[in-house]
Amino acid sequence: VLEVRDLHKSYGNLEVLKGVDLTARKGSVISLIGSSGSGKSTLLRCCNLLEDSQGGEILFEGEPVRWRGQGADRHPADAKQVTRIRTNLSMVFQSFNLWAHMTILQNVMEAPVKVLKRDAGEVEQAARAYLGKVGIADKADRYPAELSGGQQQRAAIARALCMEPRALLFDEPTSALDPELEQEVVRVVQSLAQEGRTMVLVTHDMKMAADCSDHVIFLHQGLIEEEGPPDQLFGQPKSDRLRGFLSSTA
Ligand code: ATP
Ligand code: MG
Repeated sequence: VLEVRDLHKSYGNLEVLKGVDLTARKGSVISLIGSSGSGKSTLLRCCNLLEDSQGGEILFEGEPVRWRGQGADRHPADAKQVTRIRTNLSMVFQSFNLWAHMTILQNVMEAPVKVLKRDAGEVEQAARAYLGKVGIADKADRYPAELSGGQQQRAAIARALCMEPRALLFDEPTSALDPELEQEVVRVVQSLAQEGRTMVLVTHDMKMAADCSDHVIFLHQGLIEEEGPPDQLFGQPKSDRLRGFLSSTA
């Protein structure tokens, strides 16, 4: 679904990604771990073209992103392609970003109806089904402020699902939540993994990475320091940096 090759990204003089590769095959769940500032969020944002990158390739369903310009002047060349990729790689953020003045149902329906121009009746049916899937069907007519943090994040996941994306990108979906609410979001992500959804998951929660993903990437200062199946990465880490990181998060 998504392939990143030798991606380079700088903010001014600060080189944040120094040549990163990532391949998310259909049905695979990849977790990105690493210390604060290692480039996890940046990599995720580059994947769905919320950020420009200065070198390397990004392929969506085998189709390379077309660029114009080079280096610091490199930008996506084709606005339609950007929209297609962005709507197919639905992002769930740490702070749920629900629209406060809309009900939960309206939040979930907004983009499919307004951006994708889908039939409102059909979208409503799908939206209610996704709200049911994440366990908050009864909150459809409530406003975000009336929901707990965990419920709001599940609403944000339903909103991402309602776009019928090819993959979901999560940036620390549980880090703004109280520990007791984290688990309800982890369970939703886990059930999506079991359904065979393609996902890339940035998380500081090693248990979530171990339970939800089939491949884990440890980023260190903009480079992949180690990657592999969770059993291997968490059970027999090879790199000293990964060992140090894991003992600091345990
Ligand atoms: P965290 O675990 O704290 O979320 P992260 O691994 O997601 O960290 P990034 O947010 O990708 O890290 O940031 C990587 C580096 O890029 C950091 O040094 C950060 O200061 C820098 N950075 C991120 N966004 C910007 C920006 N918009 N402008 C300038 N520098 C930025
Ligand atoms: Mg981050």
